[in-house]
Amino acid sequence: MAKKTEQFTIALAGNPNSGKTTTFNNLTGTRQKVGNWPGVTVEKKLGHISHKGHDLTVVDLPGTYSLTAFSIEEIVARNFVLNEKPDLVVDVIDASNLERSLYLATQLRELDIPVLFVLNMMDVAAARGHTVDIKKLSELLDVPVVTTVGNKNQGTGDLLDAIIDAAKNRKAAPVHRRVKYSRDIEDAVARVREKLNASAPGDFPYNRRWTSIKLVEGDSEVVKTVEKLLGEKAKLLFEEVQKQRKHISGLFDDEPEILMTEQRYGFIAGIMREVVKSAPQARADMSRSIDLVLTNRYLGFPLFLFFIWAMFQLTFTLGAYPMEWIEAGVELLSEALVAILPAGLFADMIVNGVIAGVGAVIVFLPNILILFFCIAIFEDTGYMARAAFLMDKVMHLMGLHGKSFIPLLMGFGCNVPAIMATRTLENERDRILTILINPLMSCSARLPVYILLAGTFFAARAGTVIFGIYVLGIVLAVLLGRLFRSTILRGESAPFVMELPPYRLPMLKSLFLHMWDRAKMFLKKMGGIILVGSIVIWFLSSFPQNVTLSFDYEAAAQELALQHEAVIAAADDEGKITALAEEYELEMARLMHQQEAEARERSYLGRMGKTIAPVFEPLGFDWRGTVAILSGFVAKEVVVSTLAVLHSSDDDPDSANLSEALLRSGMTPLAGLAMMAFVLLYVPCLATVAMVRQETRSWQWTGFMVVYSTVLAWIVAFVIFQGGRAMGLG
Ligand code: GDP
Ligand code: MG
Repeated sequence: MAKKTEQFTIALAGNPNSGKTTTFNNLTGTRQKVGNWPGVTVEKKLGHISHKGHDLTVVDLPGTYSLTAFSIEEIVARNFVLNEKPDLVVDVIDASNLERSLYLATQLRELDIPVLFVLNMMDVAAARGHTVDIKKLSELLDVPVVTTVGNKNQGTGDLLDAIIDAAKNRKAAPVHRRVKYSRDIEDAVARVREKLNASAPGDFPYNRRWTSIKLVEGDSEVVKTVEKLLGEKAKLLFEEVQKQRKHISGLFDDEPEILMTEQRYGFIAGIMREVVKSAPQARADMSRSIDLVLTNRYLGFPLFLFFIWAMFQLTFTLGAYPMEWIEAGVELLSEALVAILPAGLFADMIVNGVIAGVGAVIVFLPNILILFFCIAIFEDTGYMARAAFLMDKVMHLMGLHGKSFIPLLMGFGCNVPAIMATRTLENERDRILTILINPLMSCSARLPVYILLAGTFFAARAGTVIFGIYVLGIVLAVLLGRLFRSTILRGESAPFVMELPPYRLPMLKSLFLHMWDRAKMFLKKMGGIILVGSIVIWFLSSFPQNVTLSFDYEAAAQELALQHEAVIAAADDEGKITALAEEYELEMARLMHQQEAEARERSYLGRMGKTIAPVFEPLGFDWRGTVAILSGFVAKEVVVSTLAVLHSSDDDPDSANLSEALLRSGMTPLAGLAMMAFVLLYVPCLATVAMVRQETRSWQWTGFMVVYSTVLAWIVAFVIFQGGRAMGLG
């Protein structure tokens, strides 16, 4: 067989003094050519080697710390990599100065070119007491890593083998293991990239993500190059670039390039934390000092719990006021509509369907705004990334990483945006698992149900019971997470870098914008689905229309009115008339409530509830509870309003006193507890299900979630109710 010689061009990159020239000499021996890079007085060295039947041309690039357009060395190095397209770039890294060296390394990584890392100066690193986890580093950045001690010519053989190997097997660099920027910047890059795609020819020679990033950073060289390549067509692109740059500087009061550099260092700090065992000498900058406290082994966790507690406290106590205002507003609106609209089906649909349904969701808007505002503060200050670190160990309990913590935390507010937030997870299995257990985080819509039931059945200990329900959800999430991880979602998740961006003071404007972004998402999703769902529930509970009721309420009402008129006519003094009028109103209201309750009972929804009530009997729910649970699929707080409507048939016509009605209906505390557990666990609301479908892009996973949660709810409620009874608790 003829020996095949392959030609490879290898470029050596690295920081000044990382040992590049030493490595170059070790590799090429004496066969070198020294000259200048064209047009500049920067030294260019070329060398040739034959190794195991391969011809290598090695180019020593100028030493640089970065690949910006600020110095001639950087431009020379970058242009060589971009335009000559070497088969492999070997990045010589000073292992004793890893953090600084990784900046160039991440820049190279961003170019999506084949790279190999040489950790040189391993002797110095060892002498300083640093151990570097080579395997981890290689995994995290998905780059082969070799170690050398250049001045002793140690490791050169391995390096040559690795170079040949990497050059032969160079693959398109994977998409995931490179710096991810914050949402705003990634959005800006994506917008610019869209415009670039629209105007760039198919043979555009540079990596498009990289080009877009550089444009957002305002890199003058890249701007010039793109202008030359695209000519007239670059105009729209540059307009978009300006727009995005302005948007970002407006948000953070800093140039995009500064923010992006910061975020790269955040990414590197994350790598350092994973890879370097004995921490490097603490640089006394502010972020590190803050981290000494906030991620302290003993203080970190309690502080974190305190922040979360404070967030929920703020959400619910502060949110209660605007909630009341909105409630009052909704009431005023429906009263006004009742007055304006001609009585009939349409008015009924608008008031009892649309306004009642959408109104029930709108009242949670203040809570959601406050919650998202707090989350925006955590994110914008950089604390959220630390929280992910702190929670990493806990999250491993459910077979997940710290990064999944953020979506799970958001689930306590609302599962809809929380499921959207799983997009930050790179690994598909992690994402699905996080989505599947997300609804076990009890969202704020379930709280009104707990408040009603716990208040009714456990008055003095309501707070403890509600807390217990939240804990039940978390415990089940841990158990199911482990179960799913070891069965349907088996497999190791890919290593990743948890970014540790520096702390910054958040800008008010950006906080509000982030809050509003999320709230908009929430309103849009909820608005659409809740609107449709409310009308459907209204229809199911108001039709069929002309059923004969057990009692002629209309006639009774007329008679009552006549009687009242007669009595009033006979009455003589003012006080008596008022008292009579009050009595009359009460009587009338009771009659109307009874009529409504019976109509509901005979409606499609009532019939459905009665048909499937036997399924829920072992859990201690009557048909009203069953109907309430059915209608809770639209939104879980609807359980409360449905119970209110259905229970107005009891002796007390005053539906405001739902607790008494529930107690009188024979529902026991055990049944109340079972219902709380059921509402916690059963199929998440329509909007959540729709979001799961959107984010998993799979009906199978969506169906699985619906079925598993409902089965689980039934089993847990059954165990509570029957188990409690068996133990003689009622
Ligand atoms: P360059 O600026 O990247 O080209 O770096 P050089 O190759 O000129 O090396 C800078 C200095 O570091 C020289 O004095 C080398 O002898 C020394 N050096 C290179 N590699 C190592 C190493 O692995 N360990 C130690 N202790 N010194 C090294
Ligand atoms: Mg040199």
